[in-house]
Amino acid sequence: MPTIFSKIINKEIPANIVYEDDLVVAFLDISQATKGHTLVVPREPFQNIFEIPEALAAHVFLVATKLATSIKSAFQADGMNILSNNGEVAGQTVFHFHLHLIPRYDKEELKFPLKNNMGNLSPEEYKERARLIRAALL
Ligand code: 5GP
Repeated sequence: MPTIFSKIINKEIPANIVYEDDLVVAFLDISQATKGHTLVVPREPFQNIFEIPEALAAHVFLVATKLATSIKSAFQADGMNILSNNGEVAGQTVFHFHLHLIPRYDKEELKFPLKNNMGNLSPEEYKERARLIRAALL
């Protein structure tokens, strides 16, 4: 089932894309849990980990691995949470499989489930964060 992520992937609505290839698109989460919070999303709208083919899930994780290093270096993060919510009971709100890359700077800065930080950043701030990640991609 198409969700808002399909609209982003099809460029019907804007997002700050940091990476894309034939299978995967990665873009800044609109609600930046921490500086550089990024979503890695397969183009095909599999709902969750229970639906996605293993080979595609492996590619999503490969891209996440590359991006994790770039995001860490772009913002001098100290660590990173990699998280995937699968099913409503697990806190999933967009039913198109994705990985969250959440760089960490401070033990106290984050609590799960993530709170909504939408509206805290200007469009220029999102653009600059995405630019820094793209520039750090190997
Ligand atoms: P989930 O709750 O399903 O694990 O994560 C969905 C994520 O998608 C949330 O962190 C939410 O902030 C993000 N999100 C929802 N709508 C949009 C949108 O229109 N654009 C972007 N960039 N992120 C979105």
